[in-house]
Amino acid sequence: MKDREERLLNIIASGLAQFQQSSTLQQLGDRASYIGMSDVASYFSCPRAAVLKRAHGQGQSRDLPQLLTLSRGHWFENGVAQAFDGLMLPHIRQLEISTQYEGVDFKAHLDFVLATTQPRPTVRILEVKSCQKLPEFLYSSYEMQVYGQIGLLAENWNKPCFSCIPHTGAYPYDNLSFPSIANIALGAELPWNVRDVDLEAWVLCLSMQDAKVFGPYIPDSNMLKTGLDAGVSLWKEISALKEGQLLAEDLKVASGYHPLCSHCNYAGNCPKFTGLEHPELREQLEQLITWKSERSALDEKIKQAEGEMKEMYAHIDAHGQWVSVGNRRFRVSDIPGRRSLDRDSLAEEIGVVFAMEGIDMDVPAMFARHEKVGLPSSRLTINTLKG
Ligand code: SF4
Repeated sequence: MKDREERLLNIIASGLAQFQQSSTLQQLGDRASYIGMSDVASYFSCPRAAVLKRAHGQGQSRDLPQLLTLSRGHWFENGVAQAFDGLMLPHIRQLEISTQYEGVDFKAHLDFVLATTQPRPTVRILEVKSCQKLPEFLYSSYEMQVYGQIGLLAENWNKPCFSCIPHTGAYPYDNLSFPSIANIALGAELPWNVRDVDLEAWVLCLSMQDAKVFGPYIPDSNMLKTGLDAGVSLWKEISALKEGQLLAEDLKVASGYHPLCSHCNYAGNCPKFTGLEHPELREQLEQLITWKSERSALDEKIKQAEGEMKEMYAHIDAHGQWVSVGNRRFRVSDIPGRRSLDRDSLAEEIGVVFAMEGIDMDVPAMFARHEKVGLPSSRLTINTLKG
């Protein structure tokens, strides 16, 4: 039986792997010939990982959890397209912008583009990101990607730089200006001059439970230049690495804690983690990792069981009374929310009082003088490195 279950999972994994390989080729073409805006974003996250990924490729994963994570992005995109279709909102999917900058070919692939002429010429770009957990602020690498997209759209507006990918959209048009492609694909007659158009880009982050939007991002020539310059550096470093003029250990790494490191395929020999070898500690470390993961699983079980018990209590209609179970008893009671001091508003109020009294006082600095710092402690960090 176990064998049959495993075979079924293997079928799903290899199907996803095949599909991803062919759809990437169809949507993005020969990635070796250009720098994409997502490459620029990766370069901002970690130059070493971006260069190695482009120089050596990532290989085709057969790992089902990893394949599911990658597929989730495409599934979310299809869901967003269904939402637009439900409202009968015309949109272009995977609009490609091709251009050159300092001798390097660049391409941006825009998840969704919507346009209208009423009440005024308006174009919106929507970039969809799939997230395990929704971020509080948008990662700067994503911002760089979206500034690149909106910047390239504005810069190349009336140049023959826009194409739709035949296999993913219903509008297989090549090398047109944006007003032409919008006219054919969306039926929108947009001005020839980009200055007459209201242009914005937004990022929609989706997790399995929730969604959050970030924006608007408007064309910014400085941000575009920063992104394109980074793309040129990436291109040069990939070439230098391939020609043996640059070594992997000389590439710049992401500084400080970086969430990417724990998923990175190039972490195995990354200089960031260079240290001492102590193989004799392996058993102890493995034991600790096992206990920690058992504790996490147990915490999760306890949380679930507590939730179920609270639901039972609600069904019993005990209204705050104790419920006896043999020689034990339990009840669910309301606990007031935690009170905390809003330092900013307090500082503002005290500042106003001082000002009224004519006292010149730096209130935040005064607060800082009365802050107490706890004793320093140590933290054990354990990483499982891939690659
Ligand atoms: S492990 Fe971290 S720092 Fe090293 S290459 Fe990967 S992402 Fe960059």
